[in-house]
Amino acid sequence: MKTIIEPFRIKTVEPIKMTTPEVRRRLIEAAGYNLFKLPAEDVLIDLLTDSGTSAMSAAQWGALMQGDESYAGARSWYRFERAVKNVFGFEHVIPTHQGRAAERILFGVMVKPGHVVPSNTHFDTTRANIEFAGGRAVDLPSPSAKDPAARLPFKGNMDTAALERLIAEVGPEKIPVIMLTVTNNSGGGQPVSMANIREVAAIAHAHGIPFYIDACRFAENAYFIKLREPGYDAKTPLEIAREMFSYADGATMSAKKDAFANIGGFLTTNDDELAAAERDLLILTEGFPTYGGLAGRDLEAIAVGLEEVLEEDYLHYRTVSTAHVADGLEAAGVPVMLPAGGHAVYLDAKRFLPHVPPLEYPGQALAVELYIEGGIRGVEIGTVMFGKNPHTGEERPAAWELVRLAIPRRVYTQSHMDYVIEATAQLYRRREEIGGMRIVQEPKFLRHFSAEFEWIEG
Ligand SMILES: *Cc1c(COP(=O)(O)O)cnc(C)c1O
Repeated sequence: MKTIIEPFRIKTVEPIKMTTPEVRRRLIEAAGYNLFKLPAEDVLIDLLTDSGTSAMSAAQWGALMQGDESYAGARSWYRFERAVKNVFGFEHVIPTHQGRAAERILFGVMVKPGHVVPSNTHFDTTRANIEFAGGRAVDLPSPSAKDPAARLPFKGNMDTAALERLIAEVGPEKIPVIMLTVTNNSGGGQPVSMANIREVAAIAHAHGIPFYIDACRFAENAYFIKLREPGYDAKTPLEIAREMFSYADGATMSAKKDAFANIGGFLTTNDDELAAAERDLLILTEGFPTYGGLAGRDLEAIAVGLEEVLEEDYLHYRTVSTAHVADGLEAAGVPVMLPAGGHAVYLDAKRFLPHVPPLEYPGQALAVELYIEGGIRGVEIGTVMFGKNPHTGEERPAAWELVRLAIPRRVYTQSHMDYVIEATAQLYRRREEIGGMRIVQEPKFLRHFSAEFEWIEG
């Protein structure tokens, strides 16, 4: 069957304001050709991020009304703690307002200047928090991730031989923690296999190094293991998730991803001493340990979301609908990263616009034109985002020129996604008309959020 049946009905709707390419051309020009500066109202299909953009279920909205807003020991806290322990299985649960707050607290306690923290690929806030604590964040992606078109099952894996080399080179005493991001967000949303999780854990523990999972998309990762790794097809996503976490010493989580919440996160660990130090920091910057920067009602929504996200019908729909976009684009000849990850589809701007050199920002030009063409908002992941060294001011082409189309959970239907495929294919047919861009003004750090651009004439 070609039609995806979304495993939900729609009870509340949010109107989308229709616009034309002419209107959008004016709007994006007024925004300095930066999609972050567009009012969301002027976007038809918003694929900027899957973070905090999920549609909540009737059960979550119902739970919200049961939020207990007591400062200490609220009923909602106990419900949240039970839900987290049920999936993750660690002794201590520390609620935070977002994933990055969990990272800030974890690395604030564990990382000292001169330390090195390896990962398959660090997410940008993870990297920034390690660097803020004086450490060095090292990415060790599997060599299989290098070819964007290779249909391999676990391109999110860590290169364990490179991990062994790094440990030998810097010494285990310099490595306070080894991280593994599931799925590998910055590496194309690709999953990590159970075998790789087990192997990374064994290496970490052989050297006495704690092993933590960045668990933002743990449910999508668990489902990919069920589909693709021998021995797991009869297991439930919950059983697989529990096994993933059983090899780790702790995890950080953004509830804005695989917990269907609009805000929230947590840190969880088995280490009593560490947890005590983390709670001290939590009180300083987030809040009392039984709410940690969240309202009681947010804790309720996360507790329900953690159960719903592991439902097989949902995970089937989630992975099938993301693959539907990647496969549809591929069938139309549009260059995309394959196979599809869990939460996003990545257009390969290098192959989409081969006539635009990297320092004329093909990813940005493609993202802008996709907005004009179809009102679709994606995000450039390429030389605009990663090309400039803020300390030296030097600019170099990034390894990738991608446009990420992140898919919010339970928000868009198959016809929305078919429209995305159509509009992108239409743009591809007139790709030769698309030229390069230059930056007219930019800040020193994280320039992609606020830089302004113009077209290069010709
Ligand atoms: C989103 C994300 C984070 C940070 O979470 P926030 O809730 O946005 O602070 C960390 N790691 C990964 C892999 C993420 O996708």
